[in-house]
Amino acid sequence: MDDTRDMDDPQETMSEAAFLAQLRAAFSQMPNDIPIYMFVSRARDDVFAQTNRQIVRIFRELTSKITFREYPLDHDLARKWNVTHSPTLLIAPDRYAIRWLGAPMGEEGRIFLETMMMVGMGKSHLNAESKNVLQKIDSPRAVKIFVSPTCPYCPQQALNGIQAAIERPDLISLEIVDIQANPGLADQYSAHSVPQTFANEVLIGMGAQSQELFCASLKKLEPQSVFIPEVDAELVENDVVIVGGGPAGLTAGIYAVRSGLKTAIIERDALGGQVATTPIVENYTGFSQVGGKNLVDIMVSHALQYTQIFQGEAVLDITPGNPMVVQTSRRKFHTRAVLLATGASHKHLGIPGEARFAGKGVSYCSTCDGPLFVGKNVIMVGGGNSAVTEALHLHHMGVKVTLVHRRDALRAQDVLVGHLKSAGIPILWNTEVKEILGKKSVEAALLINNQTGETTTLPVKGVFLAIGYQPAVDLAKKIGVELTAEGYIRHDRHRTNVPGVYSAGDVEGGYKQIVTASGQGAESAMAIFEDLINPYWQTRKEI
Ligand code: NAP
Repeated sequence: MDDTRDMDDPQETMSEAAFLAQLRAAFSQMPNDIPIYMFVSRARDDVFAQTNRQIVRIFRELTSKITFREYPLDHDLARKWNVTHSPTLLIAPDRYAIRWLGAPMGEEGRIFLETMMMVGMGKSHLNAESKNVLQKIDSPRAVKIFVSPTCPYCPQQALNGIQAAIERPDLISLEIVDIQANPGLADQYSAHSVPQTFANEVLIGMGAQSQELFCASLKKLEPQSVFIPEVDAELVENDVVIVGGGPAGLTAGIYAVRSGLKTAIIERDALGGQVATTPIVENYTGFSQVGGKNLVDIMVSHALQYTQIFQGEAVLDITPGNPMVVQTSRRKFHTRAVLLATGASHKHLGIPGEARFAGKGVSYCSTCDGPLFVGKNVIMVGGGNSAVTEALHLHHMGVKVTLVHRRDALRAQDVLVGHLKSAGIPILWNTEVKEILGKKSVEAALLINNQTGETTTLPVKGVFLAIGYQPAVDLAKKIGVELTAEGYIRHDRHRTNVPGVYSAGDVEGGYKQIVTASGQGAESAMAIFEDLINPYWQTRKEI
């Protein structure tokens, strides 16, 4: 999604009442009615059906354009529209083929609101390049996107599907499948990680895609990793372009704008970086306990009071110079400085079965995929803060988790180890995973005790991996930024060896805490401000 709200007055925050008034005004301008139908089987009038009624009731208070009708699953209309799962929501079924199997809970609530607004307007709000790709589709596409309420990546992918279905109602139909409400369907598709997208029964996307990549994958019916725009990109003039929307990038954005610098943050995936998928954070000052995604939402709202954020947009290239040119998948930025706050991506074990079962029982995100494993046996591999935090999260949601660690002591902080012990989560010490076994999805893990050499086959449905992160330095390398021996960006008070290019956060190595990343973002923005007044590369030769 391209979220480009720009607020001139940093003091101005929108109260809830003002926000609702704005929504009412927006709905009143819409030319189209928004009929919503829910189909529920009498046997399954459950929490999902009740949630749907509540959500629709809240939105109906905003406008009379939304109408709501409820029918049993054996009703003629269910047959007419081929509805087979309970509950199913249909949105304007005479105009579009958009349905929710389950309920738009948690992260999906915002997307449900956006859907109604797009349906009310009759506009997809896709950019020109994406529309161009979709116009070339000449045969039907039946899209299924598997999501979970706690997955921070899912809304972006769900939105892609909705926009496509609104843009080409003649050929594109969409089912958003909530895995919590439909575990059987997720099993049938072996969709054990979210978001996962199928079109005409073919897997076209694992994880969230930019809208252009989604459209291209949908057209070609295979996952695409690169999108080359056909038309000349829009040009945006800036003082600072920040690559990465985690705590470092978001904080840098606030500080840069407060210093008077015109700033843009560009984030390819979900905002918040690793924090967005951290179940609970207990060591960010001011919050004794806060959900990672909640903390991200607070940070993003704060940053949006100052700076533009371009989400779902990948930086493809940076050309140093005066101005520097940052080419993204959608546009071109001219800028005086670039801040690399690209963070880190999770490490892989590199064992047989890991890649084959990715999304089919192998997971790197317990907040996203945990709900599918409730009541099932899984292992969590790793001994650091992430592995312990995520094992606790799985345990608390009812997943039968065992921690597997290669040594006889955990690296995680004492307080987390204390929580782990109190929860009674079993730990297999001195144990490594040699292979992940199964047919269509994970069925077992082959373990070896590295002290005794003894091997065991442990039947599990899921293998969660939290074995650390590696810095995301592809862009840095491409433009000649020097790295340390450990592969992090080499810097001197956030200044890299390339004039005008700065770094902050986990990509620099160091302590890798949310609070330190935020601090590095602030320092980096201040360094940029100082240098744009008095360029260091004109007074110093080396760092
Ligand atoms: P980490 O601290 O680097 O720990 C990685 C763990 O995975 C270690 O226990 C390591 O074992 C194990 N490991 C690495 N490679 C492995 C392999 N090939 N096979 C088996 N095990 C392997 O990573 P993290 O837990 O993701 O944390 C990353 C950073 O974020 C850290 O600085 C951490 O403090 C921070 N973080 C903080 C919080 C918090 O404060 N609440 C939460 C999450 C993360 P060894 O111990 O044997 O090396």
